[in-house]
Amino acid sequence: MSKSEQLFAEAQQYIPGGVNSPVRAFRAVGGTPLFIARAEGAYLFDADGKRYIDYVQSWGPMVLGHAHPEVIEAVVEQAQSGLSFGAPTELETELAEELCRLWPNMDLVRFVNSGTEATMSAIRLARGFTGRDKIVKFEGCYHGHSDSLLVKAGSGALTMGVPSSPGVPASVADHTITLTYNDPESVRECFAQLGDQIACIIVEPVAGNMNCIPPEPGFLETLREVCDQYGALLILDEVMTGFRVSLTGAQGHFGIEADITTLGKVIGGGMPVGAFGGKREIMEQIAPLGPIYQAGTLSGNPVGMVAGLETLRLVQEPGLYDQLNARTEKLVNGVLDAAKEAGIPLTANRAGSMFGFFFTDEPRVTNYKQVMACNGKQFNRFFHGMLDEGVYLAPASYEAGFMSAAHSDEDIEQTIAAARRVFATMA
Ligand code: PMP
Repeated sequence: MSKSEQLFAEAQQYIPGGVNSPVRAFRAVGGTPLFIARAEGAYLFDADGKRYIDYVQSWGPMVLGHAHPEVIEAVVEQAQSGLSFGAPTELETELAEELCRLWPNMDLVRFVNSGTEATMSAIRLARGFTGRDKIVKFEGCYHGHSDSLLVKAGSGALTMGVPSSPGVPASVADHTITLTYNDPESVRECFAQLGDQIACIIVEPVAGNMNCIPPEPGFLETLREVCDQYGALLILDEVMTGFRVSLTGAQGHFGIEADITTLGKVIGGGMPVGAFGGKREIMEQIAPLGPIYQAGTLSGNPVGMVAGLETLRLVQEPGLYDQLNARTEKLVNGVLDAAKEAGIPLTANRAGSMFGFFFTDEPRVTNYKQVMACNGKQFNRFFHGMLDEGVYLAPASYEAGFMSAAHSDEDIEQTIAAARRVFATMA
């Protein structure tokens, strides 16, 4: 029995499913999750001491790679001054100032402890600001596990929301309209019918929770347009894409203006930090300035703030994003070539240093239905083959992959060589 198997068995005695976030349990791919002992740069080391080239990178935050020495040093130093005060610190202002300086659509920003809190609060703010209840989201986009957002649509663009989980009241789900990603026409139709009741559209400007689906040209522009036309707010959920797709996220990359932006992952450098921010007149409605309530005992946590500050300082080193993009492109092209050689149909998407592979004959994958129609069995064989080879991919076919600045050319070449060997066994 491996150490991970033993630890997983013990964990299941005390923690539901042995994990604190479901996808970690390897349910989609089968087998035993790796229990991680430590991580460094591009690598994870499991409890059995085996090394893996890691393309999960804690689901996105570790854009510099794991345990960057300067981030760790800042965290350790800050921790010695105390872990939490429940009172303001200068560090919060420093990080807020940095975000507002870099992101043109952010005049004011509030820190929270997770992406879920950021989107949940942004939705409340949009509802409070507009005085409307309905929200629009897209099938396959994930915005955390709050009630309003844990909803997927039935068939037809305007069907009432159906909760994705027991425990979400139908009366809450009723206010959530779910449309098809990359289908601007359905958005126009929806607003033509219900526009004056819709508080906001929330969208992942590159979808990273149904594998990796970039926006088609014109899709995000349509969202901006209908929001302006009907007085709704556009929430760009950049929890995953912020400081990942580019220094200014997907909104900078695609040139789309957000009313409210949500951030998480990279801005905490691996610590639990989220944020939501936006235009001054909207953000001024938040307590204590305005009547819309939002709070947090550990929000703006000093250790999280320094991890974020140090990470954001380091990602601004010249050429970092160019290097990330080039490495990601090299990986994606190498794996595609390897699949082709083996005669395995494979398609890929990439946005900055986010990427995804699809086991399908379709030359392009642009929405949730197509993602769900991919060959899951083949993905699972690929996943386990790569894991045996010492390459850690996300343990589900509907998750994006992430490159870090710590991945070397050699790591990528090793990954492609591993993929070639695994494809050969699958052909
Ligand atoms: N929004 C997006 C786009 C996400 O990818 C995630 C998590 N992967 C969330 C929100 C929720 O963040 P958290 O898991 O930190 O609550």
